Amino acid sequence: MSLSGILASVPKHQTVLPLSGKKVEYRPFIVKEEKILLMAAETKNEKSIYSAIREVVLSCTGGKVDVTKIPLLDMEYLFLQLRSQSVGETTKPTIKCEKCGGGNECEINIKELVPQSNPNHRKVIPLVADISIVMRYPTLEDIDALGEGSDVDRTFALLTKCIDKINQGETVYNCSEMQETDVREFIDQMTQDQFRKLFDFLDTMPKIEKSLAFDCTICKHHNEHMLKGIASFFS
Ligand SMILES: [Zn+2]
Repeated sequence: MSLSGILASVPKHQTVLPLSGKKVEYRPFIVKEEKILLMAAETKNEKSIYSAIREVVLSCTGGKVDVTKIPLLDMEYLFLQLRSQSVGETTKPTIKCEKCGGGNECEINIKELVPQSNPNHRKVIPLVADISIVMRYPTLEDIDALGEGSDVDRTFALLTKCIDKINQGETVYNCSEMQETDVREFIDQMTQDQFRKLFDFLDTMPKIEKSLAFDCTICKHHNEHMLKGIASFFS
């Protein structure tokens, strides 16, 4: 007798991805997937954690979410929903005290981790009279492809990837169909002020972050800490 497949009917849940607005159906993790995540968390390596998250999101949505195309934030958000339905609504990362370095376990309710948006955020950026830029949100693939390098290089490379279209009057230049070097050349020609507007897109885009305040259990020092990036919620 085969036992494979007898547990196939697991409950289904739905959520709406915050940036792309897509409705997604998913099932909770199964033990196999939790193992993948635990092993990745142990490495404390951001790349391994993201790769595990990608794998789990893909299998829990039955491959219906294109993890290479959805914005990174949507994938992080979906993963948090998955996790809260699978493991529980709280996570307890250990945060280092800024004074003594001692580890403090903090409890976070995953339901409170909703993307914060900045009222100054713009997806369409006017540059000059009849030219505007339409940006798209970075995906995990984009960030993976950046590789090592200085922050300036990486930011520049990311912005190049995130320029979706350039509108000039009635003409639309579709940058995803262009050579990256051509887009880079376009950025190189910008004034500081215009470049700043591009940079602001990344700076103000919705993020999942959480401020924490705690008194260290070892030295009693009062800490105010900001958790950023999904990996930090599971450290
Ligand atoms: Zn301390």
